[in-house]
Amino acid sequence: MVNAIRKDEKILYQCEECKLRYKERETALKCETWCREHKSCNLEIIKYAEKEVEENVENLSASLND
Ligand SMILES: [Zn+2]
Repeated sequence: MVNAIRKDEKILYQCEECKLRYKERETALKCETWCREHKSCNLEIIKYAEKEVEENVENLSASLND
């Protein structure tokens, strides 16, 4: 099930499998269907994903790796 996410004034749709976000719900659905069937991402689909700044959680765990 694709998640709808509010990002500022925009609505984005997130593939539950790979967590990538898209402007179009249809694209997110295609991604999710593909991810579920193939257990990998389709480059032709993920090129439409919204690029975002990485969340702080990730930076934090990376810095603790030393
Ligand atoms: Zn996906």
